[in-house]
Amino acid sequence: PAHRPSSLLDNLNDEQLAAVTLPAGHALILAGAGSGKTRVLTTRIAWLLQSGQVTPGGILAVTFTNKAAKEMVARLSAMLPYNVRGMWIGTFHGLCNRLLRAHHVAAGLPATFQILDTQDQLSAIKRLCKQYQVDEERFPPKQLGWFIAGCKEEGMRPKDVVASDPDTKKKVELYQLYEDQCQREGVVDFGELMLRSFELLRDDAALRQHYQRRFRFILVDEFQDTNKLQYAWLKQLAGEMVGGRLQSSSSVLAVGDDDQSIYAFRGARVGNMTDFVREFDVQHQIKLEQNYRSFSNILDCANALISHNSQRLGKNLRTNQGAGEPVRVYEAPTDLDEASWMVEEIRNLVRQDGVPRQEIAVLYRSNAQSRVIESKLFNAGVPYRVYGGLRFFERAEIKHALAYLRLLENPHDDTSFMRVVNFPARGIGARSVETLQETARAAGCSLSDAVTAVGGAAGTKLQGFVAKIDVLREETQGKSLRQTIERMLEASGLIDFYLNEKEGQDRIENLKELVNAAESFVTQEGFGKDAIALPIDEHSRADAALTQSPASQGLNPGLPMLDVPLGGTDAETGETLSPLAAFLVHAALEAGDNQAQAGQEAVQLMTVHASKGLEFDVVFIGGLEEGLFPHENAASDKGGLEEERRLMYVAITRARKRLYLSHSQSRMLHGQTRFNLPSRFLDELPEANLKWLTAKQPGFGTFTPKFGGGSAYGNGFRAASGTRSSEVFANPVVPPQKTVPGHGITKGITVFHAKFGEGKVLAVEGTGDDARAQINFPRHGTKWLALAIAKLTIVE
Ligand code: ATP
Ligand code: MG
Repeated sequence: PAHRPSSLLDNLNDEQLAAVTLPAGHALILAGAGSGKTRVLTTRIAWLLQSGQVTPGGILAVTFTNKAAKEMVARLSAMLPYNVRGMWIGTFHGLCNRLLRAHHVAAGLPATFQILDTQDQLSAIKRLCKQYQVDEERFPPKQLGWFIAGCKEEGMRPKDVVASDPDTKKKVELYQLYEDQCQREGVVDFGELMLRSFELLRDDAALRQHYQRRFRFILVDEFQDTNKLQYAWLKQLAGEMVGGRLQSSSSVLAVGDDDQSIYAFRGARVGNMTDFVREFDVQHQIKLEQNYRSFSNILDCANALISHNSQRLGKNLRTNQGAGEPVRVYEAPTDLDEASWMVEEIRNLVRQDGVPRQEIAVLYRSNAQSRVIESKLFNAGVPYRVYGGLRFFERAEIKHALAYLRLLENPHDDTSFMRVVNFPARGIGARSVETLQETARAAGCSLSDAVTAVGGAAGTKLQGFVAKIDVLREETQGKSLRQTIERMLEASGLIDFYLNEKEGQDRIENLKELVNAAESFVTQEGFGKDAIALPIDEHSRADAALTQSPASQGLNPGLPMLDVPLGGTDAETGETLSPLAAFLVHAALEAGDNQAQAGQEAVQLMTVHASKGLEFDVVFIGGLEEGLFPHENAASDKGGLEEERRLMYVAITRARKRLYLSHSQSRMLHGQTRFNLPSRFLDELPEANLKWLTAKQPGFGTFTPKFGGGSAYGNGFRAASGTRSSEVFANPVVPPQKTVPGHGITKGITVFHAKFGEGKVLAVEGTGDDARAQINFPRHGTKWLALAIAKLTIVE
């Protein structure tokens, strides 16, 4: 092995070492799961700093989740002797937020702009639709939200959208109105954070070049999931495009895995990888082929599964960790049984094998699956923590509380106004609110400013509400964040309201937890007494100088401000956010972190999407059924199916030591009992790496995709083993082809069944929906199949 000058570089293999110590220049690491990509990225940052090639201010690193960013900062803190908290390490959204805060004047935003999460965005759109009497059947607010987000992801403002049909024209018009509304209220949605900061860089050459000079090293994790706009944003920071090539003095390191691209549905482009290599004229491409995460039984499953995909850039993964235990497969009769089994296994793992609870993860394809598992865990008294799902900051009671807090910060935040104007109820009816909205629209002002213009009893009540907020604002001036929140909880009537609610106790607990969340935010971000001064380097001074526009000078009395710790988002320019405003930004950006149970040793529940980049000793993947995983919406086209398979690849590769796979014969989903076939992904795993905990179903391993995935949806064999066909719920998206009546299936002919292969028809009985046939399949024996459900193709 090469000479390793520093202990930082111990525990790296040769390829990793090469990647960590690459000379300046652009580079791509394309490598499979668990091969150390994130480790390389983190170590490279440490190495660059330690070897004096760059100061902390010269690095920009993009991670996929806040959690990953935090972990990276924590690891760097441990490796390096100085404070790395002020570094530009975060998610795209987090970094954009930071850029916009620092240059809010140039970006055309108020200093205290707040962020709308997806829920807020939806309610803002609903409000707009109501105001302009939009037919919500024709233009469902949710779809408008997607339309707007989609436009923004493509970098398009309303004027850039080419609308040829009246529907699109209408949507574009609403997009414009929505933008006006957000601007008026001083709020931005997630898409806007990205687009606005892209435009800021694009249009302000001085600012752009400043950051180009500043960020000597740009590092991007999970590059396969960047979308078009994010890639364009990175290009702005990296240098100037000249003739299709980037003229750049910075070094961009992108790491990713095309097999883990799971956000195509949200506009992610694997094509960014090839574009990157071309446009940046990438000199170094490194592959990492050794997996350090999983035992080979697990890895073999992952490799075998993903080999079924055709659109791959091609990589290998090996491990020398040994085989480990086989992957366990379990079939449950019902989803409830599946969950009970999981909980039983989890308890044994914790009790007998001493596995720490937080080292156990339960992964599922859809959020809806978590409810059953949660209730079983809850009943068994096993602490658990749900990521994704309805997250702490997204719960109704928390949103209500945050709305009050936001009104304290900004009375013109109409979204928050609407949320709580009559919550808890104070006799302000829908009619009064409508009148208020009309008045505000006519006057071109915020709802809060319009209350005085509303007459009658309604006006009095509305003015009372605004006065209440004003008093609260007065009262909490100069108070700590904790005191502010506690006072608000009382004065708003929220606590009293939930005290009188039947199931309000949990909500009160959560509201109290909000106080704790604020408290820990204050300590973490250094707002409190023990604040630690952040390092200031020449970059920060230069950034601040750039922000000295006349408008911001009032707020920012020069450089000494930099010594004041400011909560991360704006530490370097001196723009001050109040602790409350900063906390609200934190709440919007970090909705994924469930503060409530953060400290506890708890089993981790999350969707497969949310598990990206993480690893656990033990992983359960439940609901491996056709229609669920692969998801029914994706199974109809090849691209969709391949994305589902990548998702499964991500899921499998989260496991270090032990992996459980399970499916259930029946499942309640969206109020209906469904009988799904086992997932085709189970068929794609090598038998040698599996251990069946329940008797293996006939037909496994014979799935023939040749005749189209859709044909697996029929539920022939379960119907034949005793279930009446009328009770069988087939997939609603791909309805079973009715081969009856006149199905043409007669005694003596040969038919093909997707699961059982070819077979000879021995007998046909019944008519219409009840028709069934007895068929002899050479490899699976004789079966009765319900013709209304089993999709049979006549071979001869
Ligand atoms: P993913 O694609 O899932 O994001 P990754 O490629 O980013 O995975 P890491 O998370 O960086 O992989 O590494 C996987 C695990 O292997 C981590 O626990 C990491 O600490 C460990 N690891 C990586 N490289 C080495 C090494 N050279 N020696 C020992 N352990 C390593
Ligand atoms: Mg990683």
